[in-house]
Amino acid sequence: MIRTGGIDLGGTKIEAQKFDADWNVSDKRRIETPTTYLELVAAVVDQICWLQKENPNLPVGIAAAGLANPNSGTWISANLPANGMPFVQDVAKAAGGRYTWLNDCRAFTQAEAIFGAGQSEGTIVGLVLGTGIAGGVSIDGALINNGNGQSGEFGHMPISGAIISAHNLPILKCGCGRFGCYETYGSGPGMERLAKHLLGRDLSSREIELGRSTPDISRVWEIWCEINAALILTIMTTIDPRTIVLGGGLSKIPGIIEALESALKRVAWRELTLPSIRLGTRGETAAALGAAYEAYHV
Ligand SMILES: [Zn+2]
Repeated sequence: MIRTGGIDLGGTKIEAQKFDADWNVSDKRRIETPTTYLELVAAVVDQICWLQKENPNLPVGIAAAGLANPNSGTWISANLPANGMPFVQDVAKAAGGRYTWLNDCRAFTQAEAIFGAGQSEGTIVGLVLGTGIAGGVSIDGALINNGNGQSGEFGHMPISGAIISAHNLPILKCGCGRFGCYETYGSGPGMERLAKHLLGRDLSSREIELGRSTPDISRVWEIWCEINAALILTIMTTIDPRTIVLGGGLSKIPGIIEALESALKRVAWRELTLPSIRLGTRGETAAALGAAYEAYHV
């Protein structure tokens, strides 16, 4: 029996997954993300129709890159051709139903909190380190998503002035239009900007990862870890999670947990109890699973 459906809507692919009564994937279908808005709406509707083919009342959750502006209803996203458009409303109109929409990093967090590395009581934070930085907060199994959908936009908190000053870093403009967000140095492209500033060289994040035991590149790596540790410290002192679950492309760097824990010991004050930092375990299915779970429990 199919219990619910989830859609992972990203910049390159749209994957629909059917979940059975045990929350296992029983079937999935992947299509490419179109480049125009009308085709994008049609593609999402097509995936909803595929999920609901046998059961028009099947709950469907959509984990998407971006979020809807709660006042205007328009979509905010750098990675989908839907920016500024009434995306949620247009999909609802064309597909003839109401669906549960979640930011993909919030959906990752909820999947890990319920089914993955964050399974425990208390407060869980998901932290997705990739081309940007975002995450989510889940408390005792409930995702914090009942305000304006913005809880978890950690990458757009202001970077620690102490780190900027200690390493004489320029304050950079962020993709959000403001200056000095954590994402400008703590993301994958941010790591590359750090190398450019510190070493005067163009290095990819992959080259930094592979060369991080050499003396000059190790400095870039250490400072990058320190920046993300300072971000984690801010999360600790506001949300106080018991566990932080890492996701995103950069979480795959071998030894990243140990490197962040060691940097966190350097930036946190000694009396603080540090949270457990773990790698996500739900992999590629996490976003669709988290959205499907939320759709089922609406
Ligand atoms: Zn920003």
